[in-house]
Amino acid sequence: METYETDLLIVGGGSGGFGAAIRAARHNPQARILLIDGMRQLGGTSTAGGVNNWEPGIGGPGVHYELYERLSRQPQAIGVAKTVHFYSPEEPYGLSAIDPDSPYESSLRRAAVPREDWRRVHFEPDQMAALMWQMLTEAGVDVRLGTRFREVRVQGRRVVSVVLQPLDGGAAYEVRSRLFIDCSGGGHLAGAAECRLAFGEEPYALYQEPSAPETPSPIVNGITQVFRVSRAASAGIDPLPERAQHPDVQAWLAANNPATFITEYPNGDLCLNTLPTMQGSEFHSMPYEDAQRISQARMAAHWHRLQTRYGFDHYRFHSMFPLVGIRESHRLVGRYVLREQDVRAGVLHQDRADEVIAFADHALDTHGERRVKGPKLGELEQPYGVPYECLLPQEYDNLIMASRGSSFSHIAASSCRLSRSMMALGEAAGVASALALEQGILYPEVDVAEIRRILHIPEFIDKIVQVWALARD
Ligand SMILES: Cc1cc2nc3c(=O)[nH]c(=O)nc-3n(C[C@H](O)[C@H](O)[C@H](O)COP(=O)(O)OP(=O)(O)OC[C@H]3O[C@@H](n4cnc5c(N)ncnc54)[C@H](O)[C@@H]3O)c2cc1C
Repeated sequence: METYETDLLIVGGGSGGFGAAIRAARHNPQARILLIDGMRQLGGTSTAGGVNNWEPGIGGPGVHYELYERLSRQPQAIGVAKTVHFYSPEEPYGLSAIDPDSPYESSLRRAAVPREDWRRVHFEPDQMAALMWQMLTEAGVDVRLGTRFREVRVQGRRVVSVVLQPLDGGAAYEVRSRLFIDCSGGGHLAGAAECRLAFGEEPYALYQEPSAPETPSPIVNGITQVFRVSRAASAGIDPLPERAQHPDVQAWLAANNPATFITEYPNGDLCLNTLPTMQGSEFHSMPYEDAQRISQARMAAHWHRLQTRYGFDHYRFHSMFPLVGIRESHRLVGRYVLREQDVRAGVLHQDRADEVIAFADHALDTHGERRVKGPKLGELEQPYGVPYECLLPQEYDNLIMASRGSSFSHIAASSCRLSRSMMALGEAAGVASALALEQGILYPEVDVAEIRRILHIPEFIDKIVQVWALARD
């Protein structure tokens, strides 16, 4: 097997992987950086998974500003949007439409804001993916798409190399690297290296989270097969595909009548995110391809219902997104685990407040089955942060994880998983990598204050204090 060498290898080019690669490359242009992803485009869940929407939320002082600014110079690529139809039992969908009068900054706050004032950002996935590609290649990152991570080799407290498999039928090859970042979402690299991972709801006794159930369970946040429909000139109904007529699919639809969150693209098409398409535990109990097939059949049936019952006859089915939208799977049990208490305490008062490197303010928010206490965990009053050690596994010193699979409890993950927060985690991992390479050290030795200084975290906290009128004592 051919063997190559690099300085930093990043597995996964979603929000976290993009953030990691761009920051590492810009901060340390000499570093050799290789980013791989199994999909054919960058952006992961936020592009290929159809989550073409940054929910209202604190983004942090990150690269999302640049993505927005550069995309807004392209026609029909991105827009700020607001809810124009709220969910009701009679009309079980929410609709978020482009609002040309809303500035980008208005999308950067959710906690303690009335839902009528929430603003979000809708974008064209192919244009977002192409811009990510352009920015990474401009910065000198070696990006290899259609390439899957397959195996890992470790020695003591170090990951030594990974085996990569091109999906076009090329030969597998080995890459040795000084540092590794796992941005694969579900912790695939960390899992293969036998890092401690968690799955499902933690019991109260583990972290004393106020909303945790008494006993553990395999329940994880529900999954969604997102799909797109296009505006049509005249009314009409798409034919119901055979797969959607299957009695199991129809029984699922009758039993669930799920709600749908709909976002409008700048060109007037719609993106449909059904809540959820399948319970998370059910999805993870079967092979991915089987779960995807069932999910797509359910969504075809659901679309038929939306057209015939809820007035969406001026749209026609366009496509299912190639990546199933997975909100939660395995999570790292790292040097620090972010818990519900941190989320609720807020950025000034949470444990390890001085080590925070990224922010979130989304509701504690799960879809589908749940045993956490209370029907809905609810909105937050202020933002909180993610401490650096949530990225560090206990077992290795040259591996870091920056994605929805970082070291969060099930409850904390339900809040901080949003795309812009994941990008910010990646950015912190990228800066940590650049510093480690520069100084010849490993992740646990990197000075967190230096990461925070480079990312302008202290100034950003001053801004949060002002915007949310927070008391420092
Ligand atoms: C249905 C749904 C709706 C959501 N709604 C919103 C929303 O409205 N707004 C919002 O901001 N957030 C939303 N989220 C959350 C957010 O989209 C995700 O949590 C976030 O995009 C995850 O980013 P990530 O970088 O951690 O992972 P991903 O974006 O999933 O990236 C992981 C990447 O790793 C790659 N990969 C995995 N394994 C391998 C391997 N072995 N080899 C090579 N590559 C591999 C994958 O192909 C993928 O590209 C939603 C999520 C879902 C699923």
